[in-house]
Amino acid sequence: MKVRIGSSQLELVEGDITQQDVDAIVNAANSSLLGGGGVDGAIHRAAGPALLAECRKVGGCPTGEARITGGGRLAARYVIHAVGPVYRGGTQGEAELLAGAFRHSLELAAQQGLRSIAFPAISTGVYGYPMNEAAHIALSTIRDYLRRHPQIELVRMVLFGPGVYRIFADVLTALLAQQT
Ligand code: ADP
Repeated sequence: MKVRIGSSQLELVEGDITQQDVDAIVNAANSSLLGGGGVDGAIHRAAGPALLAECRKVGGCPTGEARITGGGRLAARYVIHAVGPVYRGGTQGEAELLAGAFRHSLELAAQQGLRSIAFPAISTGVYGYPMNEAAHIALSTIRDYLRRHPQIELVRMVLFGPGVYRIFADVLTALLAQQT
């Protein structure tokens, strides 16, 4: 699914984030930036040891923010390490922290002059964020950013499996129908 937001494109695909040929892929990192399971492990395996060496130099990242490194062996030139919140029932500021992880990633990409960026569904794996709510936060944050910052030409959400893709597609369809 592909939609236009201002002069930019927002695209949803089912697939593997490590395989994306974009300027930057976003990692769902933890605050140590020293690697982990899930998408983090997959990105480090695909990028090779140079990525971990760069992450060590960065020295961590608070929840709700992001840091940028090179992409090692990946097709993407950069990896943006975004730290989403662990979901603890929704009353611990999780929504704002998850939105922050997306917004900071987009800001870092724009600061570097990048034009295309791919995101996974941050916080929806081990961190337990309910998929529907996470989709709403991710997509509305990206939409709001693209409306104000046309220099990012393409944002791609890379969803792992058909069930996750379907949820994101339904949420995006509903968001667009609201015309807010
Ligand atoms: P978190 O700790 O932020 O919850 P996870 O890596 O556990 O991060 O999961 C985040 C999301 O990334 C989940 O929806 C998971 O299915 C998805 N995911 C796992 N591997 C990949 C991959 N290679 N490409 C894209 N998404 C992935």
